[in-house]
Order: sequence, then structure tokens, then C-alpha cells
Amino acid sequence: MERKQDTGIVRFLKTVFFVEILQGMKLTLKTMFTKPVTRQYPKEKRPAMTGFRGLHALVRNPETKQAKCVGCGLCAAICPSHCITIYTSEGEKHEKVVDRYEIDVLRCLYCALCVEACPFGAVVLTEHYEYAGYNKADFKMTKEKLLENWDKYMTGDKGTEYFKRFWGPRADDFKTPENQAVFRGRSQTKVDLNNAE
Ligand code: SF4
Ligand code: SF4
Repeated sequence: MERKQDTGIVRFLKTVFFVEILQGMKLTLKTMFTKPVTRQYPKEKRPAMTGFRGLHALVRNPETKQAKCVGCGLCAAICPSHCITIYTSEGEKHEKVVDRYEIDVLRCLYCALCVEACPFGAVVLTEHYEYAGYNKADFKMTKEKLLENWDKYMTGDKGTEYFKRFWGPRADDFKTPENQAVFRGRSQTKVDLNNAE
């Protein structure tokens, strides 16, 4: 629709009485007293949703304090972007020893297939999403860094909660309507963090 142009006298009066400035001020004042729609990041952080796929971690066995990973290589085999590399050797009792476990985070798709494939619940995607770096090496997650991630981001019951909620999510976790069918994943499979083997 074509906008009607003000006549000369109306334009003059509007200028004299600061009509357009007052209209702008009215909008400013109105906005000042409404709830902001934005967040003051990084001061205000949005909590991660259930099942959020953030930075990787290797699960630390609370009893042995070592990584639970046995180096079976299933996670590396299923990874669609081939960003997991595992180096193993033979231990004194002919067991497999995981010497190095590396994830190239820059190539990761955050699909969580590695988590799903792991029969021991030994790898997770934490809720941590704030990781930046100045060089590529910062994004190469070594076994030591991945275990540190577990200690930092999966403290307390978070680890157990992760498997319970991530792999057996309930409708109320996702705020879906009651009785709506939801993916229940491996809800029948209990991952025991202490006795995986
Ligand atoms: S989340 Fe997906 S892409 Fe990333 S390491 Fe795991 S399997 Fe690979
Ligand atoms: S699938 Fe699990 S146990 Fe096997 S190598 Fe990967 S993280 Fe380790």
C-alpha cells in the first residue's frame, strides 16, 4: 500500500514539535520496560538441554581411577568422519592396553555414534560447548585430556545421570506432551560405571 506523503505544513509542524523524536523516544521507553529477549552471554549461560552433544570425554572408572576404555576399536570403526584414533599394545597378562586414544574434535560431527557403539559406556559427549583455541593442536583430544574432561564436566552423579537420561530419556525430560511416543534408546540396558567388564 502506498504511504501517504505529509503536506508541507504537516512536515513543518512535526519538525517544530519534535514529533518524530518523541515517537522514537516512546519506542525506546517501551522497550526499556520489557523483558529482554537476548542473553548477556557469556555472563548469562543457557543450560544445555538433555542429550546435548558437546565436548567428548573418556569415562574414568571410579574404582581403578583409570579409563574404562578397553581399546576394542568399535567407536573408531563406527565413526563416520574417522576422527578417532586408538593405539594399543599387549600388556603383561596379554591384555590389550590403550596407549593412546585421540579424537580430532574439528572433524567430529557430534553424531554420538561412538557413544552408542561403545559396549562399555566408556566414551561420552559432555554438555560442555565452550572450547576455543588458537591452533589445531588444541582440538586434538588426547586420552589424558579426555579423562580430564570427564573429571571436569561429569562430576558427581552426572556420569550415571548421563547414561540414564541420554540413553533412556523420558517424555518429561524433553517436555513432550504426555503419552507421546518418544525414543527410549537402550533404556533396558543398564550401564554400570563401576563394573563394566
Ligand atoms: S560423535 Fe560421531 S563423528 Fe564425533 S567422534 Fe563420535 S562417532 Fe565420530
Ligand atoms: S568402543 Fe568404547 S571400549 Fe571400545 S575403544 Fe571405543 S571407547 Fe574404548
